[in-house]
Order: sequence, then C-alpha cells, then structure tokens
Amino acid sequence: MLSTQNEIRNKVNIENCRKDFPIFNVPDNENLVYFDNASTTQKPHKVIETITDFYCQNYSNIHRGLYPLSLNATEQYEHARINIQQFIHAKSNNEILFTKGTTEAINLLAFCLSDNHLKKGDEIIITILEHHSNIVPWQVIANKLGIKLVFIYTNSDGDIDLEKLSEYINNSTKLIAITHISNSIGTINPIEDVIQMAKRKNVLVLVDGAQSVGHMPIDVQKLNCDFFVFSGHKIYGPTGTGVLYIKEEHVEKLNPYQTGGNQIKTVTTHGTVYADSTAKFEPGTPNISGFLGLSAAIDYVNTIGFDAIMEHENDLTKTILKRLNTFPPILIAGNPKNRSGIISFNIPGIHPMDAGILLGQKNICVRTGVHCNEPLMTHLKLDGTIRLSIALYNNYNDIDLFIEKLAWVQDLLSRQK
Ligand SMILES: *Cc1c(COP(=O)(O)O)cnc(C)c1O
Repeated sequence: MLSTQNEIRNKVNIENCRKDFPIFNVPDNENLVYFDNASTTQKPHKVIETITDFYCQNYSNIHRGLYPLSLNATEQYEHARINIQQFIHAKSNNEILFTKGTTEAINLLAFCLSDNHLKKGDEIIITILEHHSNIVPWQVIANKLGIKLVFIYTNSDGDIDLEKLSEYINNSTKLIAITHISNSIGTINPIEDVIQMAKRKNVLVLVDGAQSVGHMPIDVQKLNCDFFVFSGHKIYGPTGTGVLYIKEEHVEKLNPYQTGGNQIKTVTTHGTVYADSTAKFEPGTPNISGFLGLSAAIDYVNTIGFDAIMEHENDLTKTILKRLNTFPPILIAGNPKNRSGIISFNIPGIHPMDAGILLGQKNICVRTGVHCNEPLMTHLKLDGTIRLSIALYNNYNDIDLFIEKLAWVQDLLSRQK
C-alpha cells in the first residue's frame, strides 16, 4: 500500500514538474515539444532565480574580499562544490574542479596528463561511441607526443566488445577514456566492467558522464574511476559550467592547465608555488553565478529523485520505441542491450535534415545530423540521423504530437517524389 502511494506521489511529482520550467509557460510555446535534451536541457525557475538573486542581492567576487558580501559569495560558491561532491558521491570537495563544461574538462585533463604523465609509446584506448570532445583532445596529444590512440568498435547493435577491450589493454596502455552513455544512439556502456578491467592492469579511466549524470545516480567512489566529467547545462543548470572529478591521489601530481591569480601559495619575481588544492586548476575569476545555478539544478534533481526520474524516462523511452516500431518504414540506429532515452532513427528516402526542418516548423525540437559523432556514424554506415532525447519534463502528449507530425512529414515528403 505504502509503496503504491509512493509511486503515485512520484508520478504526480514528475507530471507536475513541467510547470517548473518557464519556457513551457510562454504562450508562443504552447505545444512546444522539446526532444533535444541530449544537446542541452531547459532550466527550472529555481536555477534562474538563484542566478538573478545572486546578481541582485549578493553579488561580489569570491576568495578575496573580507567584507560580508564577498565572504557570503565565497561560502555559497564553496557550498556548490560540496553539493556537487555529494551528488556524485566523491570522497572530498578537493576532488571537484569547476570548468566551462565537458569539453574544457577533457581538454584540461588531456593537457595535464600530457604535461607530466604520458610519453611517447604510451597507448590510450577510446571507443567509437565517443563524442568529438572525447576524441579530438586525445588525437592532439597523441600526435604531439607520439602516443598510439586505439579505438574500440561496437557491433551493429551499438554495444562495445568487452573481450576486444581486454585484449587491447597492454603494458603501454595508460588511459581508457569512455563515454557512460552514447549521445547519439543511447548505449549505456558497462563502465563498471571497463573500470574493473582497467584497474587490474593499473590503467587510468576517464568517464564522460555528460549524458548520464542527469538521468541516473552516479557514485564515483563505487565506480572507482579516476576522472569523471559532465556539463551543467545538460542537467538543467546554466551554460558555461562543468565539472572535472579527479580522484584525490592524482590532484597533487598534476600541474595546472592555466595560470594566473587565485591559484597560488606564493608568487615572487623569481617564481610561483601553486596551491595544493583544486584551486591550482582554477585561476582567475570563475563563473560564480553559474555554479550557484548548477547547485540549484542539483537541488532540483535531488528533490524529484532519481527513482522517479528513471521510472518516468524509462516509461517514455519504451513508449517512443514502441510507437516508432509501428511506424512502418523507420530504421532505428542501434539496438543496445542497455539503453537510455536517446533514440536515433531514419526514414528511408528522407534526409534527416529535411525532416528536422519540417518538424521544427511544427514546434518539434529534435536534433539532426551526425551529433558530434562522425566516426560512429561512419562505422554504422549512416550519413546522419534524426535524434530524439528525453528529459524529466517530457510527457505522453509530447510523444503523441511528435508521432503525429512525423507522419505528416513522411506523407508530405513522399508525395513530393
Ligand atoms: C554534450 C557532450 C559533450 C560535450 O559537452 P559540452 O557541454 O558541449 O562541452 C561531451 N560528451 C558527451 C557524451 C556529450 O553528450
């Protein structure tokens, strides 16, 4: 009885949460179907208000002034770090580095590792599922240092081959950089297995959590990864915010990526001693309001809870797949064993871009193209796809409207032939 009541309460919660997002209350956005959440998510009132309140009532710089306004801003900013630490269950707030986003976090890490950890002849393993931002930085340092970059491929379902991965790990392997969830076909990678495999051989692991962190609970201690990255804007937070988790034992071994003020112990005319903490990676005045906003976004997600979020998003995903599969000529890209609410598909004979433009005219927001996943598209022999990706505010009405307009697009374009 109790559990049914809880379920109902959860369901009610999540159905109501759409009104927490002002964009859906704008009169022009009535019937807005926002299915581009893998690209970025909408923001709840709470996040927007937190940012406005900071600028209107409490604004000042952090880590500098000794007056109440500045002390208060510093406290809020460092509270955000602790909130994020707890959200991904890191051991210490000294393991949480603030960045502009996933892209900057991976670049920062690639630079730091290339500076004093990686050398000629080393090998880095990545997968064909990676977003360009988890490919290009590794290509750059591989070229610069003479490192071998090894790709693990997927089968046609979009699942990576764990046996191959295990064969590819050798004494030269220094790092495995792998996405938790594919941003174009929705594969949830078995990162627990990958990390265990890597740890047995003393290999570092970076998990790109850009697509997972808003949709399932993350526990970096349980995972035992060395690095975990995500972007604030994909978890209902502001743009220009991101997180790089670095396991504490690595923090002091890495040199900073950028240098300047607010990261140092002492500077003399002869040289500099950096701070011991993550502060050494964060020189300059940071995106203070952004991280307060991200902290508010995390509070918002915590209030709803991942049990409710996952149940709701799973139900929606299953329904979309069922409806698409009864839509005669549709080809869904990949069929991963474990999948998230990111679904890519094509309608034979219709270019994804044409479909995207027409759907857009009907207020349906989906992504079309190669989704910063060109190597994956080439591997799966696709020129691109139509991608739909869900978030907690999507509902069954969105699915009905989407399927209705998709049928309209198909009808319109096939009549023109
Ligand atoms: C979006 C995304 C990125 C890049 O994130 P930015 O916020 O654009 O820096 C990296 N990896 C994955 C899996 C993504 O989905």
